[in-house]
Amino acid sequence: MTTIYDNRAYRARILHLVADPAEAGDAALHYYEDGVLWIQNGHVHAVGPADEILPLPYQVSVREYPNHLIIPGFIDAHVHYPQTGMIASYGEQLLNWLNAYTFPTEAAFGNAEHARHIAEIFLDELLRNGTTTALVFGTVHPQSVDAFFAAAKERGLRMIAGKVLMDRNAPDELLDTAQTGYEQSKKLIERWHGVDRLQYAVTPRFAPTSTPEQLKLAGQLLKEYPDLYLHTHLAENHGEVKWVKELFPTAKHYLDVYEQAGLVGPRSVFAHGVHLCEEQCERLAQAKATVAHCPTSNLFLGSGLIDLARLRQHGVGVALGTDVGAGTSFSLFKTMDEAYKIQQLRGQKLDPMQAFYFATLGSATALKLDHCIGNLLPGKEADFSILDLDATPLLTFRLQQCRDVRQLLFVLNTLGDDRLVQATYALGKCVHRRGGHG
Ligand SMILES: [Zn+2]
Repeated sequence: MTTIYDNRAYRARILHLVADPAEAGDAALHYYEDGVLWIQNGHVHAVGPADEILPLPYQVSVREYPNHLIIPGFIDAHVHYPQTGMIASYGEQLLNWLNAYTFPTEAAFGNAEHARHIAEIFLDELLRNGTTTALVFGTVHPQSVDAFFAAAKERGLRMIAGKVLMDRNAPDELLDTAQTGYEQSKKLIERWHGVDRLQYAVTPRFAPTSTPEQLKLAGQLLKEYPDLYLHTHLAENHGEVKWVKELFPTAKHYLDVYEQAGLVGPRSVFAHGVHLCEEQCERLAQAKATVAHCPTSNLFLGSGLIDLARLRQHGVGVALGTDVGAGTSFSLFKTMDEAYKIQQLRGQKLDPMQAFYFATLGSATALKLDHCIGNLLPGKEADFSILDLDATPLLTFRLQQCRDVRQLLFVLNTLGDDRLVQATYALGKCVHRRGGHG
């Protein structure tokens, strides 16, 4: 672990969640109009209203940020770093989109230098958007994961990633076999899992591109290393769901394909989950698995409008993902904005506190990382961003009309994007500064 012997404080507005607002109501939100965040050795030492925390000992430097807001680093629960260069690709829905754009793009990641180059661009984008942790797809090539983890390690970031497992229904150059996929994953796990802030996720792309044998060996990895994650896609698109039924005729439903391979558990994150039956919702809740909702992607690929209220009624854990390159923005603000609109189309309301929870503490809880990230309580790793509340003239003007913190949060969720992010910190260290070099 990189040790940073710092001892400094930031004075600004501060906002974070300390519980799920669906359970704790307004008490879940802690907001200080004039707050102080005191960091020591990369961790939060204290947080609270300035009049309680100040004065600090003389050796602590205090940086003042008038009309700025400090929030915890965002946690992106589903994103593909190799697809950074194919964001905004025209005209297809999921299955054709994979063939037309994704597979040709991912084929280039057998080249380690290329992989490293894209990993750096991707991490720059995450940090520019205030995202400090992500659950990340590599490609089928082990070197794509080496490149990503090496880049994340150098920046001191908390990241989870894995090599894609894919042994059928894709171009030859993108296929492993059940056995090589297992062996390559195992080597990567031994090399990276638990190194500094890095963790490994077993990553079958989705049921159609893996044989039952490959899925079974993915389950075997989870048995051998119980603290790994499982990261895959589930029920994103109607054509995909139909195809899974044809490929796995004996499975009860889509989730059952994963279930039969031992892939459904509390450390499993399923991207999308747009088209699920009651039984699958129940099973996800019972297993304490997570659905990573990716609204910009669901709209962009025309995949469907997720019923968030139903998932929540069943007790399924929800987090937010950008799903770039099908997603259209690295910003969790833009993601919250689109999530709200999807629920509007369903006649439901997505409370801004709830959306913010899905992007911070809720995501941390889903990833079993709420003991170290997700909010700014003392003892947590100091991953946070400083937002400029005067980032645009419209923002300045609109925020003047806000009468309470809920309104403030909703305006940020709706109008916010990368322009808001003045600086991003990971483990107390500045890893991005707007217009600067970190
Ligand atoms: Zn995806």
